[in-house]
Amino acid sequence: MIIDEYKKPKTIEEAYSIITTKEGSQIIGGGAYMRLSKKHISTAVDLSNLKLDFVTETNNYIEIGAMTTLRELEINEITNKYFNGIISKSIRNIVGVQLRNIATVGGSLAGKFGFSDLITALSVLDCKVVLYKAGAVDLLNFTNQKYNDIVEKIIITKNNLKADFQYLRNTKTDYAILNVAVSKHNDHFYKIAVGARPGIAVYAEKAENFLKSVDFSKENAEKAGLIASEEIKFTSNFRASAEYRQELCKTLVSRAILNINY
Ligand SMILES: Cc1cc2nc3c(=O)[nH]c(=O)nc-3n(C[C@H](O)[C@H](O)[C@H](O)COP(=O)(O)OP(=O)(O)OC[C@H]3O[C@@H](n4cnc5c(N)ncnc54)[C@H](O)[C@@H]3O)c2cc1C
Repeated sequence: MIIDEYKKPKTIEEAYSIITTKEGSQIIGGGAYMRLSKKHISTAVDLSNLKLDFVTETNNYIEIGAMTTLRELEINEITNKYFNGIISKSIRNIVGVQLRNIATVGGSLAGKFGFSDLITALSVLDCKVVLYKAGAVDLLNFTNQKYNDIVEKIIITKNNLKADFQYLRNTKTDYAILNVAVSKHNDHFYKIAVGARPGIAVYAEKAENFLKSVDFSKENAEKAGLIASEEIKFTSNFRASAEYRQELCKTLVSRAILNINY
């Protein structure tokens, strides 16, 4: 990464003005992923003066600032209190503590990486991404659209849903071959997201619909895994073949459903 000019704005307005007026400018979160690229950046915009590193809780919501590091999120008391700790579970195996001390929530979402563990986990929660200009948008809407904007924070609705996260990696510090998040809102309402296919997380809607019509049992959890594996599109890369990912999907989806219910 080559940077011509480095700016550390004191206000978010200033940061936004730079990225929307200076050609070739780019926001830097933790910079952990950006530094791997050979990209030429005219003006790098560092957000670390904007007080966007926070995790707070109100009566109904958890709010997480964009500059919060993955390590903070992993060990934070508030995020760990809810959803069976799915947020921490999804990120605590990303490389090592040093990297998680650098990588940020904003960079993890804005990067829209197919392998993202955090995006898969947040997909099954009621999560909105708050952008400086566009305001609050659904996570799915955010990942599917292009925004020249600044992620300020995410807002997660506090509810009693139960959740689980599953993944498989070839080696400890590698990207996941597949990651799966499942949440249970009530006996017949589940959200199932499958990511690192290697594409970004998508919902297994047919499997979700199947679970609407049946009571929980081990057999039905396995059937839901099978349905998910048949409806979702997998592709091959050097980490795993599409066929292997499809097989894995059956196991990880059913395992997550079983974990939530036992
Ligand atoms: C070696 C390595 C291994 C990794 N392994 C995994 C893994 O196994 N699983 C996993 O889920 N993740 C993994 N990651 C990704 C990591 O978890 C972070 O998601 C990634 O580093 C991006 O976070 P960052 O703060 O470093 O963002 P940066 O690298 O600073 O930025 C990434 C992108 O987001 C943009 N951006 C940053 N902040 C904002 C903002 N607030 N608003 C708008 N745009 C913004 C930047 O302009 C850039 O385009 C890995 C990263 C590395 C470097």
